[in-house]
Amino acid sequence: MNDPAVTLPFPREPKYGQAEKDAVLKLLDEGHLSEINRGPATNALEAAFARLTGTRHALSFNSGTASLHAALHAVGASPQAGVAVSPMTWVSAITAVFQAGSYPVFCDIEPDSPNIAPTAVAEAAPACSAVLATHTWGIPARMDQLAKATGLPIVEDCSHAHGALYQGRAVGSWGAAGCFSLQESKSVSGGEGGILTTTDREVYERALTLGHHPARLAAELTLPELKPFATTGAAYKYRMPAVSAVIARQQLRSLPDRMLAAEQNLATLRKVLEECDAPVTWPSIGELSVRGWYGTPLTINVRVPDPAELSKQLKAAGIPVRSMYEDWTQAPLLQRPDLAARFWPHLARSPYRPPTIDALPNFHKAMRQMIVLKVPQLLAPDYMEQVAEALAAVLVRTLVTA
Ligand SMILES: *Cc1c(COP(=O)(O)O)cnc(C)c1O
Repeated sequence: MNDPAVTLPFPREPKYGQAEKDAVLKLLDEGHLSEINRGPATNALEAAFARLTGTRHALSFNSGTASLHAALHAVGASPQAGVAVSPMTWVSAITAVFQAGSYPVFCDIEPDSPNIAPTAVAEAAPACSAVLATHTWGIPARMDQLAKATGLPIVEDCSHAHGALYQGRAVGSWGAAGCFSLQESKSVSGGEGGILTTTDREVYERALTLGHHPARLAAELTLPELKPFATTGAAYKYRMPAVSAVIARQQLRSLPDRMLAAEQNLATLRKVLEECDAPVTWPSIGELSVRGWYGTPLTINVRVPDPAELSKQLKAAGIPVRSMYEDWTQAPLLQRPDLAARFWPHLARSPYRPPTIDALPNFHKAMRQMIVLKVPQLLAPDYMEQVAEALAAVLVRTLVTA
């Protein structure tokens, strides 16, 4: 018997088009690739991100990780009280907490989404100084419920969710600060880069002092408490290269069209999977919410006896799946404070407790039952139908009959 497989190539445009090339050439012609103050390239990108998120300020960094470090510093992450984090995220959304002088307190995810659970955050809050919430795989975290669960400042990691809305309002505008990676795999790329969004002037200025040039600090710092840092800043050099800024600015222009195409492609996929009665459920994001794109997650409703085998079968059938993240909670750096203390000496005397293997049941279940599909950002109904049919066949073959 011949099972359906995906034979069409993954539909994609070149990652960087003519607009990006023109912008880079123009920059080279002008002869300025480093903007120590707020120059034209970073200024244009920051303004565009402030518009995208509806925040008063946007601040550029040379990576998403740097923006997380700055945001956690800015909201006052403390060495004595941890930062509530999700295990289902990129590792630097965990290790940035160490870098900011605090320690992670792992909270379980929701049973029906890949995001940190407000109930778990409420439980952890008394021992925490901040919350770091990733909009994982583009699914907006339940920001209103997280805010209700705790009075702590929330940093949003929007690295999977550029352009996403939660209940009609942009991600990156709900918390005390939003952080966006512009690393190449993200849906807005500068090659490398990061953006911090906030409406809180104090958060903005504190984030500035951490990684920006004294020229910019002298021009922008207004808070008396921060003025002493104007001549030196701190030791971190976190500003964004102008080349990254002009590329990301162009990527932001094409984002709405790409999001719309991905949304339509997902609708095609879902329709075919429903027709096949495939045993899957989708995280519900609510009517006024719009997802972002870094793959999209779905949950398999029947028990997956062997996730590695399933992953092998999916790949063999040509289904475009993203690898799930590691279980970072069990990595040596997170399990052994003596190792972490080599980089961050405050961990030698910290309340940090490594998480046990059974502490996060929803997370561990999702690691077995969830898959993340890469969805093309240009319209591709034929391709999506192939993916859906191949996916349904793999599920029937490896699970329902297993
Ligand atoms: C990519 C990513 C980061 C880190 O961003 P870099 O730009 O690579 O430093 C942080 N958090 C999440 C969720 C990411 O996907």
